[in-house]
Amino acid sequence: MTDYLPNSRIASTTCPFCGVGCNLDLHIQDDFIYKVTSPFTSIVNQGNLCVKGRFGTDFIYNKKRITTPLIRKIPQRPGARTQAFNLDEWRPVSWDEALEFAADRLVEIYQRDGGDAMAAYSCAKATNEDNYLLQKLIRSLFRTNNIDHCTRLCHAGSVVALQKAIGSAAMSNTASEVVNSDVFIITGSNTAETHPIIAIQMKNAVKEHGAKIIVVDPRRVEMVNYATLWLPEKPGSDVAVFSGMAHVIIKENLYDKEFIDERTEYFEEFKQSMEKFTPEYVESVSGVDRQLIIDAARLFANAERGAIYWALGISQSTHGTDNAHSLINLALLTGNLGRLGTGLNPLRGQNNVQGASDSGAMPWQYPGYQEVDNEDVAIKFEKAWNIEPGGLNRQRGLTTTEILSHVHPGGVRALYIMGENPMMSEPNLNLAHKHMQQLELLIAQDLFINESGSYADVFLPAVTFAEKDGTFTNTDRRVQIVRQAIQPRGNSRPDWKIICDLAQRIEKRLKPKNTAIWDYQHPSEILAEMGNLVPSYKGVKYERIQEIGLQTPVLDDNHPGTPFLYKDSFPIGKAKFFGLNYYPIDEPPNEEFPLILNTGRVLEHWHGGTLTRHSWMDDLYPEALVEINPLDAGWQEIRTSDAIKVTSRRGEVVLRAIVTEKTIPGVVFIPFHFAEAAANLLTNDALDPEAKIPEFKACAVKIEKVSLEDLPARDNYQLRGRY
Ligand code: SF4
Repeated sequence: MTDYLPNSRIASTTCPFCGVGCNLDLHIQDDFIYKVTSPFTSIVNQGNLCVKGRFGTDFIYNKKRITTPLIRKIPQRPGARTQAFNLDEWRPVSWDEALEFAADRLVEIYQRDGGDAMAAYSCAKATNEDNYLLQKLIRSLFRTNNIDHCTRLCHAGSVVALQKAIGSAAMSNTASEVVNSDVFIITGSNTAETHPIIAIQMKNAVKEHGAKIIVVDPRRVEMVNYATLWLPEKPGSDVAVFSGMAHVIIKENLYDKEFIDERTEYFEEFKQSMEKFTPEYVESVSGVDRQLIIDAARLFANAERGAIYWALGISQSTHGTDNAHSLINLALLTGNLGRLGTGLNPLRGQNNVQGASDSGAMPWQYPGYQEVDNEDVAIKFEKAWNIEPGGLNRQRGLTTTEILSHVHPGGVRALYIMGENPMMSEPNLNLAHKHMQQLELLIAQDLFINESGSYADVFLPAVTFAEKDGTFTNTDRRVQIVRQAIQPRGNSRPDWKIICDLAQRIEKRLKPKNTAIWDYQHPSEILAEMGNLVPSYKGVKYERIQEIGLQTPVLDDNHPGTPFLYKDSFPIGKAKFFGLNYYPIDEPPNEEFPLILNTGRVLEHWHGGTLTRHSWMDDLYPEALVEINPLDAGWQEIRTSDAIKVTSRRGEVVLRAIVTEKTIPGVVFIPFHFAEAAANLLTNDALDPEAKIPEFKACAVKIEKVSLEDLPARDNYQLRGRY
C-alpha cells in the first residue's frame, strides 16, 4: 500500500503491546514510521486503537536502544555479579564474537554441570516462531525443560484450572462476541486500561445492546461506571464471592440441569462443598454486602447468554487456581459454555502470551500443550527434531518463579533471557537480585539494557516487531501476521535468526550424532514445522493469514478456524466441577502492616516498562503513584501529590500519593511499571502450590508520609532516553 506523502508507504502488521492484537497500519516515509492508524475493516479492533498502539511505538527509534552486540568489559563472578546500565562498562563486538562467546560459555557449563544447569526465559512479546525456536534450542541441545515465560506470572492459575476442568486453557470465545451477551462478569480486570479495545466492545454491549455487567473487583475501575452491579470485594476473597453466587444459584434452583447432566461430572460433590458459602458467611470474609451476592447470582443465572472475563486479579494469587475454578464452576453451573456470547475468557496480557504458550515456551509442555513426561509425545518430538531415541528429557522443567530460586552451585548456572525482564516482574525483587548475582552466565537478548539485561555477560541486540516477520496469537486465539515494515536499526537482528545462528554454533561444539534443522530462511518455515507438531496449528499457514488471522484450532488447510470452543464437547469429554474451600490471603494485614497492597497496570504503560518507558508514553504517565482511599489517607493527613513511603516485610518504595475512592478502604494500589519505585520490591513471593504463580495482588504494607526530597529523581532513571 502507498500513502499520500512522497516516498511513503503503509505496512500492515499487529500491535506489539497487549493481547487484544489490534491491526496496525504503519505509515512510513524513508524508512521512518511517522504515523500509526488502523483499518476500519479490522475484524479485531474495527479501526480503533488505544494510546499505546497509536502513539507508543516510537521506542523503535529511542537513542538508548542497543543495536550492536556487547560483551561486559569486566568479567562477572558468581556471587558478585553487578548491574551495568552504562555503555562504558560494555564493549561493542561483532556478531561472530558475541555468538562464539555465548556458545563457548553455554557449552562449557552444560558439559560440566549437565542440562539442568541451563535455563531460559522465553518471551511473550516475541513471535510464535521466536518462542518455538528458543524452546527447541533449550530442549534439543541442552536436554532440559527449564524454559518458561511470563504466563507463569500472569495467568498460570487460570491455565492450570482450565486444563484440569475443561482440557484447554485458551479463551473459549471471541472478545467481540461480548455484544451477544445479556450479562457478563468482569473480575480482576481493569479492562478499560489493560485491554482498552475490548473495553470499547463491552461498553457498546451495554449502550447499544442492553447487556448488563457485574464487576467484582476491589478497585472502582472504569467499567464500574457501566455496570449494573459492583461487588467491591476484599483482595483475595474471590473464591468466597463466586462460590457464594453458586450457593444462591443452587439454593434457588437456577442452575442448568440439562447442561450439567449431559456435559459435566462431579456436580453432587461440588454442590455439597458450596453449602458453607451462605451470603452471610461470604459477606463476613469478603466485605461484599450479602444482598449484592444474591442479586449478582440471580442476574447471572437468568441470563440467556452469560460470559465471564477475568485477568490477573484472579490468577496472581496463592489461590489463583482455586479462584479460576470458582469461575469455571459458575459457567458450568449456568450452562454458559459452547455458545456465542458465553464463555470463560481469561484476558491475556502481552501481545503474544497465548502464542508463546502455544509454541511450547513452557516447562511442563512441548508446543501444543503436549506433556513432556508423556513417552509418546517425547518420541514424537525426538523424531521431528532428529534426536536419538530417549534423548529428550522426560522430567518437567523449572517454572519462571523457580528458575531464579534454583540459581546456586549445583542448580541453575546459565540463564538465557529473551525479551523478558524478571528484575521488574519477579516478586520480592531484593531476593531476586541476590539470585541473579549467583549466576555464572547470563545472556540477554533484547532491545534495551533493562534491569535484567544489566546483569548480563553478553548482550544480543534484537529487532522490534516492525523490523521482522512472524506471527502473534492474540487473546482470543487469532494467529496474525507480523510484517517487516522497516530495516533493522544498526546491527540488530530478528530473534529467530539469532537463535538459529547460536544453535548452529552450539551444535558444532556438542557434535551430536544427528543434527536438527536450524537453517530456516523465513519464519513461515518455522510456523510450518510447528504446525506439523501441533494439531491446533496444522491449518495455520503463512499464506492463509496475510489479510485476516485464523483462530485456533485450525485443524487442516481448509478449516476456517474456531471463533468459540466447546460447541459439542470438551477436550476431556465431560467438564469437571471442583469443590472449593475459602482460604485468606497468605499475608493478612496486622497492626504493624495494616493495609493490603494491590498491584497492576495503567493505560499508558506495559508490564516491566522496557517498551513504554522508552516511548512518548513515559511523558504521558511519567512516575509511579500510589492510590490511597481518603479514609486511610485521612489519619496521616496525606494529600494527593505528597511523597509516601510504602513498606512491606520485604522492601520499601517512595512515590507520590493519589488520594482517591478508586481503591477501597484498607487497600492501596501501585502500578508495577516503574523501576525507580518498583512495586515488586514489596510483593510477596509465596506461590500457588499448583500453578506456582506468586501472590502479586495482596501483601501487607504500611504507609508513611515523607519529604518530597525523598522521591526518586526522575532524571536519575538510568534507562530513560530521548531522541
Ligand atoms: Fe495495542 Fe492493545 Fe491498545 Fe490494541 S488495545 S492498540 S493491541 S495496546
